[in-house]
Amino acid sequence: MSNPDVQLMLHGKDIGLLSPEINYPGVRITRVTQVENKNYLFIEMTIDRGAAVAGKFPIRLTKNSKAVATVQYELLQRANGSAMRAGFDESDVIYEIVPDRFSNGDSRNDRVTTLYEGVNRADENGRHGGDIQGIMNNLDYVQKMGFTSLWLTPLLENNQHDYSYHGYSITDFYQVDARFGTNQMYKQLCEKASEKGLKVIMDMVFNHCGLEHWWMKDLPSKDWINFADNPIYTNHRKTVFQDPHVSQTDYTQMVDGWFSKTMPDINQKNPLVARYLIQNTIWWIEYVGLSGIRVDTYPYPDMNFMSQWAAEVIKEYPRFNIVGEEWSENPAMVSFWQKGKINKNGYISNLPSLMDFPVQYSLIKALNESEKYNQGGFLGLYEMIANDFQYPAPDDLVVFADNHDIERVYSLVHGDADLLKLGMAFVLTTRGIPQVLYGTEILMAGQTHGTIRSDFPGGWEGDKVNAFTTTGLTKAQLDASEFMRKLLLWRKNAKVIVGSKLLHYRPRNEVYVYFRYNDHGKVMVVLNKNEAAQNINLSQFSEMIGTAQQGKNIITGDNVALTGTLSVPAKTPLIIEW
Ligand code: CA
Repeated sequence: MSNPDVQLMLHGKDIGLLSPEINYPGVRITRVTQVENKNYLFIEMTIDRGAAVAGKFPIRLTKNSKAVATVQYELLQRANGSAMRAGFDESDVIYEIVPDRFSNGDSRNDRVTTLYEGVNRADENGRHGGDIQGIMNNLDYVQKMGFTSLWLTPLLENNQHDYSYHGYSITDFYQVDARFGTNQMYKQLCEKASEKGLKVIMDMVFNHCGLEHWWMKDLPSKDWINFADNPIYTNHRKTVFQDPHVSQTDYTQMVDGWFSKTMPDINQKNPLVARYLIQNTIWWIEYVGLSGIRVDTYPYPDMNFMSQWAAEVIKEYPRFNIVGEEWSENPAMVSFWQKGKINKNGYISNLPSLMDFPVQYSLIKALNESEKYNQGGFLGLYEMIANDFQYPAPDDLVVFADNHDIERVYSLVHGDADLLKLGMAFVLTTRGIPQVLYGTEILMAGQTHGTIRSDFPGGWEGDKVNAFTTTGLTKAQLDASEFMRKLLLWRKNAKVIVGSKLLHYRPRNEVYVYFRYNDHGKVMVVLNKNEAAQNINLSQFSEMIGTAQQGKNIITGDNVALTGTLSVPAKTPLIIEW
């Protein structure tokens, strides 16, 4: 590793009173830290890459020079090419899966005696039994649809009494939840995915843990958690980071307040905590072989810690990618967090990518509302894309129509499959890295958390509808799925998508036209939202069409004349490449 130092946390009755010794070539203890709680001991060791070799060694713990206990530790050989692994990028399309709700590949793990919550499919907020085996069983489906990356909502142990299926209340940062599988299976999933050309993105949470986290019963120190004795709750006021008039009261409540009463707020300002979290990330990247990270609630932890965390991860893996969640409609607030942004208050971020919530909001409005008095409709989307000037790297943003937290796009467009197709055509052809929530391709609807994250049909034994095999899908579902598959497969191989520019025209009469172009070619995207076909005069786009005579409709394969008038069917996206 680029950083040769490792911090070990030892936990055991009165272990803090013992002295550690390591006798192994190339490994040396550089610091021993005792904390308030005598049941913890923190050891910092440094590993000399020239002298150390992979292997096991004991850490001896002594009291008054007498050996009291021994802990075995192992240095592993790094896989070749680990540091230079490629992260996800604009050549990818991310498929977001909520593991509990995708496919139950092993019903034997639905109930685990050592964990509180069992399975209850009748409860939309209960656990439904989906697992890693279920995802592994269906990697072919994901690949054949044309997706290239998987974002799995958290797989780590959430041993909470109830409402634990979503995974954001982690109770052990080093352990996959046994109801999803094992650490070894997670590793296997990443290996199998990689064989199929699929990248895996881990969802990480640094702001909070679950109230049932094992350390909550025996905290290393009171300042391990913010407001450990008397929780206050976050005010969710994410403007506190940019607001020149902010009060310290609001700031502290935002950052140090608990996310909920079952989600204690971790204090990343404690350097031992910070090191624990950074190492945990690097351990998962290395152990399972990740291609990226999605960071939950990015502005909620200490902002300087997040900057340090991202810098250290990118230092170890220079080609890696990380996307953060800043859930705001305002591009000024979202861009604040992107690496390279020059902020008025001097904050330096090291986060490469952000979820493009401003464009998501604008897209849904554009699909549902009409332009009026020179604003709204596609004009709103056009103007939001114009806000790209605020981002250091707009091409690195993750663009999406919905995710596991917000109403499904099919519901947002009130069950109109044509509008959904227009929306997905936009997501898959505009700048950035597209992300699609599982089930969008088969028109899954949902407005509440439980229904947004409903079970993918075919993932459970006895399901009458099976989307993996298309058995029982309606005509509308088959049509949407086929449309997305064609578009995704085209995108996967289209040279015009990567390293290309975006140029767009002011929308007119509910028709939005834009181009992607680079040295390999051009693609013209026409989004017609009207209930009627539109004839558009192509001469208004001569700046981009130039002398080209003909292009190809990437969905139908038909040739399309690029001269004269183009007829665009009602409520249809036309994507023409040449
Ligand atoms: Ca299961």
